[in-house]
Parts: sequence; C-alpha cells; structure tokens
Amino acid sequence: MRITFIGAAGGVVTGSCHLLEAAGKRVLLDCGMVQGGKDSDAINAKPFPFDASGIDALVLSHAHIDHIGRVPLLVKRGFTGPIFGQAATCDLLPIMLMDSAHLAEHNAELAARHGHDEIEPLYDEADVGAAQKLLHPLRYETPTEILPGITVTLHEAGHILGSALVEVTADGKTLLFTGDVGMKNTPILRDPADPPRADLILMESTYGDRNHKDRAATVAELGEIFAKAAKDGGNVVIPAFAVGRSQELLYWFAQHYDDWNMARWKIFLDSPMAARVMTVYERHEDLFDADAVKVWAGRIKPFEMPNLHVTADADDSKAINQIHGGSIIIAGSGMANGGRVRHHLANNLGNPKSHVIFVGYQADGTLGRLLVNGLKHVRMFGQELRVHAQIHTVGGLSAHADQQALLDWYKASPNHPPVALVHGENPARETLDGKLEKQFGIKVTLSQPGMTLDV
Ligand SMILES: [Zn+2]
Ligand SMILES: [Zn+2]
Repeated sequence: MRITFIGAAGGVVTGSCHLLEAAGKRVLLDCGMVQGGKDSDAINAKPFPFDASGIDALVLSHAHIDHIGRVPLLVKRGFTGPIFGQAATCDLLPIMLMDSAHLAEHNAELAARHGHDEIEPLYDEADVGAAQKLLHPLRYETPTEILPGITVTLHEAGHILGSALVEVTADGKTLLFTGDVGMKNTPILRDPADPPRADLILMESTYGDRNHKDRAATVAELGEIFAKAAKDGGNVVIPAFAVGRSQELLYWFAQHYDDWNMARWKIFLDSPMAARVMTVYERHEDLFDADAVKVWAGRIKPFEMPNLHVTADADDSKAINQIHGGSIIIAGSGMANGGRVRHHLANNLGNPKSHVIFVGYQADGTLGRLLVNGLKHVRMFGQELRVHAQIHTVGGLSAHADQQALLDWYKASPNHPPVALVHGENPARETLDGKLEKQFGIKVTLSQPGMTLDV
C-alpha cells in the first residue's frame, strides 16, 4: 500500500487530497478545494498531478468544500469511477457543490465585468450533476469492498453530519484517514469513534497547537448576550455558515427556549442553503446523539420553533430589513465576506441597540475580522458606515478537535501506529508532532505535496 500526499499537506489546511495505491488500483481520498488567499482560484484550476481517468475510485471523508470542492472538476477531467461517502455526506454534497458552482460562475462574471482576463468557471451545475450520479452512499461501521481487494469502513468523526474516519484495508495493511476530527460533545452529533487498529494514521492537525475555550461557558455567554440585547431593544445579527453552525444555534435556542426566554424574539434563518441542509438533518436523525434525540422529542423542536422563520426567497429576506428590533437574524456567510448577512449588517451596524455575534473563526481580510478587531468605520455597498452596534466574539464552538482532544483520541488507539500529519499549518502540526513523539514515542511524518509513504 502506497500513499502520495497531494493537498492539505506541507503546512496547508485546505485542499484535502491523498492518493492511495493498493491491490493494483488507484483510490483517491478526498478531492478538496484550496480556500482563502488571492491565488486559490489559480491553484484550484491547475492540472491534477495524476491522470483523472486513471483513478479507480474516490472516497470522501465529509462534505466540507475543502474536502469535496474539486470533485466536479475531477469528473470533468475524465474520472468515471464510483464515489463513496457516508449517506449524509452524499446528501450534503450536491447542496454544497451547487453553491460552489454558482460562486464560481459569479466570480467569472465579475472578472469579465471588471475587464479582467476572461476566466472559465472551474465547473458548472452540469458537472455537479455528473458527479452526483457517481455517488455510492455507505453506512457507518459497515465494511464494504469498494474495489476487488480494497475494503473501506467508515467510523463516526463527530465533525459535521456524515463526517467519517476512513479505514482502508488492502494488501494485508490498514490505513486510517481521519478527515477532520470533531470535538466531543458537539451538539447534535455523536462523539468521534476511537481509532481502530491501523498500520498508519493520516491525521488532521488544524488545532495541533492550541485548546478551545470551554463549550458550556460559551453557550452561557450566548444566553447573557441575548438577555442584554432584549433589554436594549435592537436586533441581533449572527453571521453563520449554512452547514453545522446554523443548525447548532437553532438547537441551543430550542434547548434554552424557556431559560433564555427565546419566545420574546422573532428568529430568522435567512439562508436558502441552511434550509436545504436542515432537510438533510431530518433525513438522518438516526445519526443524532442521545441529547439531540431528547431535544427533538421535546415540546420545542429546533427546526420547528413557533417563532422561527426560514426565509428562502430574496423578497422575504428584504422584508427583514424593515424590522428595527426584537429579531435574531442568522445568515451567511459566517465571515460576512459575502451572502445575505451583509444586508443585515448594513442595516444594523449603525444602531447602538443592535448586537452582532461572531461565532466562528474570522479569517484575515474578511469584514468579520475587521469588525471583530473593533474597526469603527467599514465600507459596504459603496457606502461608509459608522459602527455603533455592539460586537461580540464567542469562541469555543469549533467543529475541530483541539490539541488535547487529538492527543486523547490517538491515545485510544489499540496499537499506536506511526502518524502522518495533514491538514494543519506549520506551527500547529509541528507542535502536535512534538507532543505525539514525546508522549507515545512514535514516528511522525510531516506530509509534503508529492511525498510518498509505503505502508
Ligand atoms: Zn471539515
Ligand atoms: Zn477540513
């Protein structure tokens, strides 16, 4: 069995992709998009360092764009084999990729309008449709011979709905690819499964150098902000991504419906994509953890709260702009660098009674980062806006295992095999490397694009 690192290697977090050669076949693990940075469009358009038509099968760890974003491109360039993923991943994939295709087409249009060189969108809806036809949904804990001599078993990764640790057995060897590992006690999802026996683990290292704030304290902080906002009488705007965080917020609202007095608010989820994702959650309630099952069986159900308004079309979205107080508005994007949330921010940033809550990581160069940094003037829709609203940053809701959680997870391995670290920037993966070597005395490889490991 031979592994070649292609993406999310060499100190890069995004663009997850690894090539596995075994039993005379070539299997790709993930085919993600590079995200963030000025050059990402150009990097994603580059040829693959392998022949797409020579890949026999593709296995996906989960439906985040940094793990599936280049799948339609792979198909467009000649891949015709089966695509395997957990059933919920297969349901989320078209929602995520259609959004990605629209964004690519929109960016190409913008470039043309601004007189830049013509750029061809990476792929379009038809390419997404073609990829969708190749999907083969798998269940957790069900060994499946995906190609002659190659068996895949998916285990819960607890990161997003459908996320999986991918166990591949071939040529008498076993590889475990973590994809992204979640934190224990992530709402709605079950905890990550313990690692099964393996000969090598390809392990993510996103937060290899730090630990998150306590989740319970974070949730309590949310409740306090709502209490203050209710007293002030303005709106609350929460930029959030459509998958995961939006549903988590609704879960907490339902769980704390009485003690946070949520009935006094009008709650808007202003995101057609988040609405589509909710239907996938409902189709896969069998994947929920015990607490979520209890909440869903309760009087107030997260997606059916009596004061929840899910706005799919643009006119409904614009109508929210007329509301000057008493609303909680959840909308994308999570970093406020695009999407409907920008309209809600434009309407509320000038109001000292309004509150804005950031619940996720804000990357450099985004509007979210500027606001979190306390900037008092921002430019939106061609206008200078003075920021009077109260800005909050709530940490501790990360979907990724932190350093301690990664070490605890590895500790549970029955045989402590060597590790290759992927999906982490340099300080993070180097720090985790040091911890793993010291605590377990194992060999750790820092992956580089093009590097090959024989198992
Ligand atoms: Zn992920
Ligand atoms: Zn990832």
